Amino acid sequence: MKPEPATYLIHIEGLVQGVGFRPFIYRLAGKYGIAGTVENSNDGVWIHACVDNGKIESFLQAIEEEAPQASRIWRINSKKIRERAHDGFYIVDSRDRSAAITQVSPDIAVCEDCLADMKEQPNRLDYPFVNCTNCGPRFSIIKDLPYDRDKTTMRVFTMCSSCRREYEDVNDRRFHAQPVACVHCGPHYALWQEGKKIEDLGIILKSVSRILLQGGLVAVKGIGGYFLACDATCEGAVHRLREAKMREGKPFAVMFRDLDAVREFARVEAEEEKELVSWQRPIVLLRKKGKQELAPGVSMGFPTIGAMLPYMPFHYLLFEKLPLPALVLTSGNLSDEPILTDDDDALQKLGPVTDAVLTYNREIYNRVDDSVVSVVNHIPRMIRRSRGYVPAPVPLPFRGEGILATGAELVNCFCVGKDYQAIMSQHIGDLKNYETWRFYSEAIDRFKRLFRVEPELVACDLHPDYLSTQFAMESKLPVVQVQHHHAHIAAVMAEHALEGAFIGVSFDGTGLGDDGNIWGGEFMVCDYSAYKRMTHLSYIPMPGGDKAALQPWRMALAYLYMLYGDKIKDLNLPVVEKAKKENKLSPVMQMINRKINTPLTSSMGRLFDAVAALTGICTETGFHAEAPMRLEAAASSVEKGKYPWDYDETINVLPMVQAIVKDVTDGISPDIISAKFHHSIADIIIRITKEISKKTGIDRVILSGGTFQNRILLEEAEVLLHDQGFHVYHPEEFPVNDGGIALGQLAVAAAGRKG
Ligand code: ZN
Ligand code: ZN
Ligand code: FE
Repeated sequence: MKPEPATYLIHIEGLVQGVGFRPFIYRLAGKYGIAGTVENSNDGVWIHACVDNGKIESFLQAIEEEAPQASRIWRINSKKIRERAHDGFYIVDSRDRSAAITQVSPDIAVCEDCLADMKEQPNRLDYPFVNCTNCGPRFSIIKDLPYDRDKTTMRVFTMCSSCRREYEDVNDRRFHAQPVACVHCGPHYALWQEGKKIEDLGIILKSVSRILLQGGLVAVKGIGGYFLACDATCEGAVHRLREAKMREGKPFAVMFRDLDAVREFARVEAEEEKELVSWQRPIVLLRKKGKQELAPGVSMGFPTIGAMLPYMPFHYLLFEKLPLPALVLTSGNLSDEPILTDDDDALQKLGPVTDAVLTYNREIYNRVDDSVVSVVNHIPRMIRRSRGYVPAPVPLPFRGEGILATGAELVNCFCVGKDYQAIMSQHIGDLKNYETWRFYSEAIDRFKRLFRVEPELVACDLHPDYLSTQFAMESKLPVVQVQHHHAHIAAVMAEHALEGAFIGVSFDGTGLGDDGNIWGGEFMVCDYSAYKRMTHLSYIPMPGGDKAALQPWRMALAYLYMLYGDKIKDLNLPVVEKAKKENKLSPVMQMINRKINTPLTSSMGRLFDAVAALTGICTETGFHAEAPMRLEAAASSVEKGKYPWDYDETINVLPMVQAIVKDVTDGISPDIISAKFHHSIADIIIRITKEISKKTGIDRVILSGGTFQNRILLEEAEVLLHDQGFHVYHPEEFPVNDGGIALGQLAVAAAGRKG
């Protein structure tokens, strides 16, 4: 007997707009012989499925398993409904137009099918702007919603008849692919070289390859901004690139031709490979292998390589021509400015310092840098969240509508609340830079317009000097100020949709505390609405204030002065000798004594600075957090020892510093000292957490704050806490540094509003 067909109403929530979801359902329905409809709505995708009994389960399973790569399904609900049978399957226009659809897909790396089209389709042979519903630019070109070609920077290109046929054919991979283009109707590259404009792609590829092979520099327009490229194996070229970027000291990211090339230079574990080849194509921090070496100037002495794989069609075409395994591909900006997006700006600013500027005639509307991911304990952790991830929303366990969180200052991202979702901005940067500040205010305006958010409440940091705090204060809206380290912890609670109370270990460089001191080595017990500071690193003077973060020797002297007072002069330590020689010792001692420009701090980042300087690993820095990064890089992997410390109300690390001084004086090598220091900090985390847990009965721990970008510390702390039976949470999809803090600000503000 033939089973009776039944009709189901299926509701899919998640990131399902602008990623080819409806055509996917259409094709799947065909495969399963299902009649009915699929439609977009402001709250997801709705399907009416008239299906023979028994098939519904496999249909639902196929939706989950075969969904378009850039979609993200949060929930699927289905229920049987009484409805007359359907004939055929249709994509229908949304009936509910009460609220606009405000989902925007992130940019997606070119897909395999499109790469194949570049080899086969006559109108797309070697055409570097090929894309489809499964791939191509999205956020970077969207000006407004609804997501139609007219509202993107593709507006100026009129579709040819063959592209339009694909665009309108529901069975085509390019059905409603807004950036659809071919060689006849789409954008084109142009190369500016020695004042001449070259427009033939074949000649462009030859010229760019020749320049790169000869050790030259090329500015290359990417998806979300301009990049600077050079041969990653040529020290001369890398050196020139550093000069062009005004002596930038940070390691450069590298694009490898393929996975095999990556493996020649770096160790790639399974989870790292998964990230490398993902459609988001982030930069993945890998450990060097030592089989083949890149130019030393790429990594600047660090044992890691920031590696990525090609993600634009042009990258593939270039590597076909170019017999090199890897290119440095670093953001096209001068020192701390945001990555350039405007063609004229790029020609003007990057033209003079490079041998050629490669551009194309499609405008970049939303700036997005490359994202950075690091895999620790087999879990990918975001370090910089931009291209490929932004503006995918985060589901919130509470309503965030109408809240704008303005973030911190140095590594800024902001966040807007939309219904039960939070939408985090792309990486913005250091707001103290004027161009970055302009980018920040502009991006906030764009997010408000794009996502139809009208803020009624603004959340910001406690620090009155942060430009993001001033932005909030000037909004003339109600403002909630959130303590920096509470926000770090609350961000993790929001990301993992956690409720209740947690032990929060919040370690970072700096954040203003509610007592007016600079915090950063904090143990809290908190929920969304409140925090209790349980204990922290004992306060120590920070001579020179913010300057201490750039000059680690200052913190070394501060710790030594606390230990030895005036006898600091007699210490036989390189950092003291150097300060004496440069006439800096007495002034620093005086600053501390007279409390001139010397705030008190409990910062963990500053303790890392002090130890980096004491061991001679890093006494002056060229970029943010260089000292802790160098200290981590130096650590021996075999040394298991630990240093002593005291605990009484607050955590006293002076015994630790004293033991380190002894080790330095005894000629113990810095890699041993660094390893012992890392184990000691992990020891602090475990012992203090256990203590707090005993008092409060809480067994859930959150580790957050920039210090946890340190792989050794995070790995060790997570494993040891697990071993002790704790449930441990850490940011995964959002940066552990201040780039994730806006989410916590938003969560705290939303919780306050509830009550
Ligand atoms: Zn594609
Ligand atoms: Zn066309
Ligand atoms: Fe922080």
